Amino acid sequence: MKWCCALTPVLLAAAALPARAEVLPDVDSRIESVTPRVVAWRRDIHQHPELGNQEVRTAKLVAAHLKRLGFDEVRTGVAHTGVVGVLKGKRPGGVLALRADMDALPIREVTGLPFASKVVVDVNGTPTPVMHACGHDAHTAILMGAAEVLAGMRDRIAGTILFVFQPAEEGVAGQEAGAQLMLKEGAFSPIKPDAIFGLHVEPGRVGEIDARPGPMLSSATGISIKLKGRQTHAGRPWEGTDLVNLSADIVKSLNTIAARQVNVFEYPNVVSIGALRAGNRSNILSGEATLDGTIRTFDLARRDDLKARIRTTVAGLAAGYEAQADVNFEDVALVTGNDPALLDLVMPALKAAAPKGVNTDALMRGAAEDFSFYQAEVPGLYYILGSTPPGIPIEKAPTNHSDSFDIDEAVLPIGVKAHVLTALKFLDSRAK
Ligand SMILES: [Zn+2]
Ligand SMILES: [Zn+2]
Repeated sequence: MKWCCALTPVLLAAAALPARAEVLPDVDSRIESVTPRVVAWRRDIHQHPELGNQEVRTAKLVAAHLKRLGFDEVRTGVAHTGVVGVLKGKRPGGVLALRADMDALPIREVTGLPFASKVVVDVNGTPTPVMHACGHDAHTAILMGAAEVLAGMRDRIAGTILFVFQPAEEGVAGQEAGAQLMLKEGAFSPIKPDAIFGLHVEPGRVGEIDARPGPMLSSATGISIKLKGRQTHAGRPWEGTDLVNLSADIVKSLNTIAARQVNVFEYPNVVSIGALRAGNRSNILSGEATLDGTIRTFDLARRDDLKARIRTTVAGLAAGYEAQADVNFEDVALVTGNDPALLDLVMPALKAAAPKGVNTDALMRGAAEDFSFYQAEVPGLYYILGSTPPGIPIEKAPTNHSDSFDIDEAVLPIGVKAHVLTALKFLDSRAK
């Protein structure tokens, strides 16, 4: 119960922070009045999480809200369940997109919150619990709040704002999904934005925003290695191909590529094998093995170099064992970061939204975001809102994707303010 009642003073305090020069006189009061509903939306969405490409209820909530606000256009069913809203200002100017993701994860929630998820869905015959363990419930509610504030300020808006509510940021195995599919299905057409802004909640000081210039979140590339050889008795390995040993050699050698063969002072990189399957009995050496992993780095030329080195290393090791190796890669996300000029431009707005300041020295993160695909089309801004719940040391706060992940709801009005102020700042710079 402490979550539902004790937060109200904190929320009001955060929403009523003293206006600075960048804050228009009525923005704070508009945010203050929408905050109780942003909290209610977040809790409602949290209690009814939906997996990627299945965000039917959430999308309906979003679309109904945008229509009620009198948006100029509300497109639904983009990339399965995505919603794109168009809000035109009363003055001519540029176009900005604001993006939120709506999907949840296959995790059984153990937060004990009064609005914790009890949802279990069928995934290919397997009962699967679902939880908003990455804070996308907060992102959706925050952007709905920003939509309401900005819809009430059309006189003040120079240009057009696209509100992009996308499904399946976390990806869906075997299905096209997320930002890439949104783009394919015309999220940026016929109105192409000049820039796109997005945010994410993460453990950290509430009131602080992390936004470094240049790369911020890594690229992510899936590695799939399939090995084939001659199956044999584990007591007579010389009569077959020992794919267990070959797999072990591959795992160790791939770590060596990331640590010893490329300049780690230039860009951090990680090559990890997360799944290894080779046989199912102690006394059989299997004729097949598979290894699945991921490449994370902060430069696409570096990513391609790592791919080439992985191919060469696996081929060389497989040849030594007389095994066949098939190596495939799938680019799941590009590098997410901040266009330095764009970050400079909106920095006063971010500072006005972040009572504890903007940390531009924030560390790069090994997490990845499909937001990067939008950034391949138009310049982007991506920042992180510290959101550790009160009473928990930040370093002990359960991370995103933990079954105990939670946020301090005081971050919600901060997110609304960040969206509103950065949007106005950007569009003012493009006013005609
Ligand atoms: Zn996530
Ligand atoms: Zn996320």
